[in-house]
Order: sequence, then C-alpha cells, then structure tokens
Amino acid sequence: MGVTLCHVHGRAGVAHTCRHIRAALDAHSTLPTWRSYTLPHPPDHVVVRMCDACVTENNLPVPGRMLADDEVVLDQLRTDPYCDACFVELTSEP
Ligand SMILES: [Zn+2]
Ligand SMILES: [Zn+2]
Repeated sequence: MGVTLCHVHGRAGVAHTCRHIRAALDAHSTLPTWRSYTLPHPPDHVVVRMCDACVTENNLPVPGRMLADDEVVLDQLRTDPYCDACFVELTSEP
C-alpha cells in the first residue's frame, strides 16, 4: 500500500477512492455505498474503494475482491488518494 502525508496522521497508508466518495468525504456528507478492491500496483498493491455507480461504470466484479493486473489498471479508475486512517475514522460507526 502506498503512503500519503496527512496533516492529521503524518505518514499514513493511502486509500484510493472514487471521485464520488472523495466528494462526500470532503463535504462530510453521507458516503455512497461502496465496495473495496485490491489492485496489484508493483512493487506493492493498493486498496481502491469505489461507489456503486463507479463499480457499474467500470464493470468491476461484485462483491469486491482482489483484482488481477490484466483486469483493471489503477489509472483507468480515476481515483483520488486519501489518507487511509482518515477514511477509517470518517467511515467507522460512531
Ligand atoms: Zn464513484
Ligand atoms: Zn489522516
């Protein structure tokens, strides 16, 4: 998993989210329902969270799972990196 520099958490793991999830995070509004995918991203892998609309748009398998590198490329998904620790805090049940 890649690393991001977060103003709250410092060096933290990076979660890639689709633009809809990112917009909801930025607005502190309710997130759309989403699924989690793990993509190979040499020399590591990345976790990508996509909302249902993006899952459909990109023909991603349901339920979310580990994807092979010939199935989908991270760049195709137009995701934004987001601090994984922030994501977990923002999405965990109160
Ligand atoms: Zn989306
Ligand atoms: Zn953070």
